[in-house]
Amino acid sequence: MAINQVQFQKGLSMAEFIERYATEAKCHAALVVARWPRGFACPCCGDERHSMFVREERQYWQCHRCRHQTTVTAGTIFEATKLPLTRWFIAMHLMTQAKNNVSALELKRHLGVRYKTAWLMKHKLLQVMAEREDRRMLDGRVEVDDAYLGGERPGRRGRGSENKVSFVVAVQTADDGRPMLTRMNRIAFTKDAVTDWANKALAGSARVISDALNCFDGFRGNVADYQPVVVGSGRQAVTAHPEFRRVNTVLSNLKTAISGTYHHFKFAKYADRYLAEVQYRFNRRFDLSSILARLVRAAALTRPRPEAVIRLAEVGG
Ligand SMILES: [Zn+2]
Repeated sequence: MAINQVQFQKGLSMAEFIERYATEAKCHAALVVARWPRGFACPCCGDERHSMFVREERQYWQCHRCRHQTTVTAGTIFEATKLPLTRWFIAMHLMTQAKNNVSALELKRHLGVRYKTAWLMKHKLLQVMAEREDRRMLDGRVEVDDAYLGGERPGRRGRGSENKVSFVVAVQTADDGRPMLTRMNRIAFTKDAVTDWANKALAGSARVISDALNCFDGFRGNVADYQPVVVGSGRQAVTAHPEFRRVNTVLSNLKTAISGTYHHFKFAKYADRYLAEVQYRFNRRFDLSSILARLVRAAALTRPRPEAVIRLAEVGG
């Protein structure tokens, strides 16, 4: 799909969203299907035989075998939420259909909740995206570049360098050069860190192209082919080089997508999740009409994370 087809595809319109997810009952039903697509299975023993009852306006499933009682949100990222599911679905819709990352402040305004609540919802959903994307491996021809974000706060140049984040951006391209998939991860630019990242993010059969930075020697022996390209000095040279056209486009989109976020005082602490948000959307950009349903399914399969853990910025599943 060409870039303009990606931009002009239908997506999930606000009208369709409202039709499908306007009420608590509709969101609940959608979550039930997402969590148990082949029907209920007990989270404790796996048995499918069950009965259902309602207590304090909540739907419960009770396993016939082990008597375990559960709701559709228990054991998922939505566990113990006091918010209606309709709010969660609006948040997921905004975060998947938006071109750029959605700030907690925007969510607060759209949802009519407190800032703290919006922040926590957003970061729980980012956790879902980060865990999904953490398993992704790029293969084939892969352009890699090093980049930095953050570290400058408006009006205070040079300050906040502790907020600066170094990360790697990789783009898998198709035979005709189109960008297909991306990975963006915070790493230190050392040879060992590059090797560790390559083993996690790239298939052994990948063919990697990067500039000739010393740390990128960490690719040698870990991928099928590694071609360092000497591009001259300075960022301009890398940006202008045709071998890095795709990764540079993705990098420039990334900077736009999170520009509202990376001046944030705690950007560095949560950078992994902000990168995952861009990566998640980019890798699903060919099918904007199903991206919400897929996020709902992923959220239903992601285990709960209490607020304290979310604030620690732990990403690993
Ligand atoms: Zn059971």
